[in-house]
Amino acid sequence: MSANNAPEPRYWEKLRLIAATLKAVEGPVVIIAHEDPDGDALGSTLGLYRALKKLGKEAIWIMDPPRFLRFLPKEEEYHPPLERLPENATLVVLDAGDRDRAVGAPVEGFVINIDHHGSNSRFGQLHLVDPTRPAVAMMVKDLIDLLEVPWDPEIATPVLTGIMTDTGFFKNTNTTPEVFRVAAELVEHGVAYAELADRLSWRPPEYFKLTSLVLGTVAFHFGGLLVTAHVTRSMVEEAGAAEEDSDDFVGLLKTAEGSVVAVFFKEREDGVKVSIRSKNGVSAQRIALALGGGGHVPAAGATLPGLDLEAAYPKVLAAVEAELRRVGLLP
Ligand code: AMP
Ligand code: MN
Ligand code: MN
Repeated sequence: MSANNAPEPRYWEKLRLIAATLKAVEGPVVIIAHEDPDGDALGSTLGLYRALKKLGKEAIWIMDPPRFLRFLPKEEEYHPPLERLPENATLVVLDAGDRDRAVGAPVEGFVINIDHHGSNSRFGQLHLVDPTRPAVAMMVKDLIDLLEVPWDPEIATPVLTGIMTDTGFFKNTNTTPEVFRVAAELVEHGVAYAELADRLSWRPPEYFKLTSLVLGTVAFHFGGLLVTAHVTRSMVEEAGAAEEDSDDFVGLLKTAEGSVVAVFFKEREDGVKVSIRSKNGVSAQRIALALGGGGHVPAAGATLPGLDLEAAYPKVLAAVEAELRRVGLLP
């Protein structure tokens, strides 16, 4: 597997085509994103959903958000997963690198795929994949402008959420000047920024208990270039937490001084999920691709089906070692 991390050369042309297509649709527009949705998956889909509703379109938004994002959608905006698409439907898939990663509805019929993962398989009749875009929410911001939907806080808030979370709250290397310009524009459209930032950082009591258990697993490898930690199902149970309560830990590992790769392992019933973060020219994406996953250069992930933690560690360490050698950090 490989990744095409080049910018999309026909970005505006394709986006205009997508906008014209959505303006012309008469049937329902079903909007979904990747499994284990993050702020960008939720923010980009919910923002587009609200914009299409405001245009008078029949839109269906399907997502099971993690707890920390559940304050954003209203009760009446939820729709159960679909076994089949309604007659004459258009399916919009956002932030999902492959049709297999998309959840909520079958990826069939007329599909519009908008994403920023270099490893995206370019599925769908219309696809716009630009790995140089910091968040799909940035692409949705452009799309909503082209749809000429008047901005309001209801639309701007989820879109800004996607930008905030995918840039690590304006800290990752993808935090370009344009990110700040777009964020400023969205705040001007009425987002209660400080309130949103505060609300996104809320964590339940069980999270703190789980943190104490997970911190006991932190380990350094390759002279500190790699930092790892893991969560087991029994730790989650002991803390009374949910698996999603460990989603932040890879970000914490990333702050280890001197490290260039951080890997967080989650034990699951059917295998192990790894979250990988990298910096200084090291590619988390290459490590993930070697493990059968995907993502972006600085942030990627993979699932290792059928393995337990004991078997997953050496496999992942070997993939990291190969990448550290490739960039010359190991002999
Ligand atoms: P995560 O560590 O799950 O937050 O994922 C980091 C990035 O890698 C996100 O952009 C994910 O969409 C992507 N990613 C995670 N797991 C996979 C996978 N199994 N296959 C492809 N992409 C993935
Ligand atoms: Mn995502
Ligand atoms: Mn994203």
